[in-house]
Amino acid sequence: MTTLTRPLHRSQYRHLPKLRPPPPIRTTYTPKRHLGIPPAYLLDNYIPRYQLLSSTAASQKRSLAHAHLQNCNLCPRRCSVNRYHETGTCMIGAETAKVNVIAPHRGEEPCIQGYHGSGAVFFSGCNMRCVFCQNYEISHTLAGHDLTPSELASWYLQLQNVGNVHNINLVTPEHVVPQVVLSILEARNMGLSIPIVYNTSSFDSLESMELLDGLVDIYLPDFKVWRADTAKRLLKAEEYVETAKESIQAMYRQVGDLCFTSDGIAKKGVLVRHLVMPGLEEEGKEIMRWLGREVSKDLYVHVMEQYRPDGYVGRKKRKMGGKDGEGEVRYKEINRAVKEEEWGSVREAAVQAGLWRFCEVNEKGGFHL
Ligand code: SF4
Repeated sequence: MTTLTRPLHRSQYRHLPKLRPPPPIRTTYTPKRHLGIPPAYLLDNYIPRYQLLSSTAASQKRSLAHAHLQNCNLCPRRCSVNRYHETGTCMIGAETAKVNVIAPHRGEEPCIQGYHGSGAVFFSGCNMRCVFCQNYEISHTLAGHDLTPSELASWYLQLQNVGNVHNINLVTPEHVVPQVVLSILEARNMGLSIPIVYNTSSFDSLESMELLDGLVDIYLPDFKVWRADTAKRLLKAEEYVETAKESIQAMYRQVGDLCFTSDGIAKKGVLVRHLVMPGLEEEGKEIMRWLGREVSKDLYVHVMEQYRPDGYVGRKKRKMGGKDGEGEVRYKEINRAVKEEEWGSVREAAVQAGLWRFCEVNEKGGFHL
């Protein structure tokens, strides 16, 4: 059966849904609309700081790096050794840095690892002795390859050109700052063009901060514990807390709040991490209050919950006259995972302190930027 439809009377048209013009065809993708980056933290374009350094400033930094190696007081251990002839607490000399792993890394915050990974350079050794070290094999042993600053620079270029990574992520670099400085200055002449991330425990001196100023784009400092006696027992560095406060403030003065390009990748600024420790949530809360009060309420913060016993934690002490592994369990107060309520109480203290930029999954399934 064929149905013939009669033309509508003019008065009937108003009951039909109105025809709207089709939406304009988008020719360019504008990710910032979807990522929701607040305008204050959005960068149109970004040129790494080391590319803006004058050649005079670069050669001053080169000379200063060599001078520090001849009388090293570059970290709070203040060994005053000539690293061309002997080594200090960190056990690393002057000509090379020891490197354990160089690879694109996808274990960082989403805004750091991005889509292709962060170009991680894991330095061996450390100027700290955290008993719970979460990177024990790399930081407490000196396993790895000795690389000169020129060799390091070539690796940065490989990471950029072959790995297509978003940044060069220098992990645990506090004890090799002069070698790092020389490598960045060399890499800039070879065509490096991605940001430098300085991924630190915050046990840095102000002299190190000065040497790095103009070369680092993103600082990724940990703030581990709040009390000096805890720092003495667990980090073997009683002066850690005061040092971390000074160095995080210096980092913030250099690069400010964390900013992104419209693709959601961080390009410049400070991202502070705090790993919540079992039973030490009160110290975590103090750290959050201090960050909000003495650094910035707009600071980008990652309150982390993934602590696991590692390093010396949970190992058994040696019994008097007995063998290793027969005595009491060491550091048993932190020989467990963190409870959800411990993490939650630190996170809540951060909100109470006025902090609001957190590295967390947001309500739309993406990450807060
Ligand atoms: S960087 Fe090494 S040698 Fe220099 S002060 Fe620190 S621990 Fe000592």
